[in-house]
Amino acid sequence: MSVFDSALAQIKDLQPYLPGKPVEELERELGITEAIKLASNENPLGCPKRARDAIESASAHVELYPDANAYYLKQALAARLGVNANQLTIGNGSNDVLDLVARSFLDAGAEAIVAQYAFMVYAMVTQACGAGIQVARALGPEQAQPYGHDLESMLALVNERTRVIFIANPNNPTGTWIDRGSLKSFIEKVPPHIAIVIDEAYFEYVDLADYPDSTGWLERHPNLIVTRTFSKIYGLAGLRLGYAIASPELTDLFNRVRQPFNANALALAAAQAALADDEFVARSREVNRAGLVLLQDFCHQRGLEFIPSVGNFISVKFAHNCQTIYQGLLQRGVIVRPIANYDLPEHLRITIGTATQLDRLFTALDEIL
Ligand SMILES: *Cc1c(COP(=O)(O)O)cnc(C)c1O
Repeated sequence: MSVFDSALAQIKDLQPYLPGKPVEELERELGITEAIKLASNENPLGCPKRARDAIESASAHVELYPDANAYYLKQALAARLGVNANQLTIGNGSNDVLDLVARSFLDAGAEAIVAQYAFMVYAMVTQACGAGIQVARALGPEQAQPYGHDLESMLALVNERTRVIFIANPNNPTGTWIDRGSLKSFIEKVPPHIAIVIDEAYFEYVDLADYPDSTGWLERHPNLIVTRTFSKIYGLAGLRLGYAIASPELTDLFNRVRQPFNANALALAAAQAALADDEFVARSREVNRAGLVLLQDFCHQRGLEFIPSVGNFISVKFAHNCQTIYQGLLQRGVIVRPIANYDLPEHLRITIGTATQLDRLFTALDEIL
């Protein structure tokens, strides 16, 4: 018996998360420069200038522990979201918050429900707690949003062991979304002792009249937990800052299980500054909207199928030659994301870049195809 055998079975069974390939790694491997990464749904515009200034100011005092209560960021978020500061849990990225939810509700004997093709982290944090996972089949090709969450089939999996339901709206890697009416009636049917996580990592990118802001339902449904992040539209993925909005009671729980200094001082300062830059957010949304159209048009012209997306990425179907295309793009300095680990071996997920970056992608794809 080795010490490895003593480790928890659920941990030994975990499949590691597969991140997008870092730009530096590809450049090192190929001896090239100016590679572009359209692989991790990062903001191609970078982050707001004022966030970089805030980081620089905050860097003068990195000898001090960060504010464990994130007072200023919570005040700013509370004012922006119309909630109380005691409804906010700050995380080291929203993945950290998802982990806090799992650790608060799940253990051996408990179950979480996710949708097929849902963001991988839900299954990972569930398994790490030794809990079971139920996967609801996705919507089929005859539905309005193939590959999307099928709320009926998720509901049908609720049983006496269910403790958490994870919903991504919109979902990554499919880019599919759930409208206000459908999500509201789903929430009303879920028994009130089951926690419902609504992951809104791409909230600020979506501009559809029918797309819901789930925070509006918190008062009526104290089993809701809404998660958001500064990694996507705010361009701060490298700093790791996400948050949950929930009832004061659940927030108190999450803040007990949370590591006291899980969000660092530079991230707190940058997030607070970024939150105030509405112009940057509007510009990012605009660049993304234009880029979505460019990529969709390219796919239509080349006869490529894709999953219609409301996020800052599109999963494009290349069928059997997917790996060849991924490798061919790497050779040309363009990093995208294979999603075979999502059981979508024929798709590549492509982040919406600037028009210049997309041009490079299109040229490279035309060479390969
Ligand atoms: C990117 C992403 C997140 C955010 O992760 P962070 O830990 O905040 O960087 C959360 N959920 C989904 C669905 C995502 O795609």
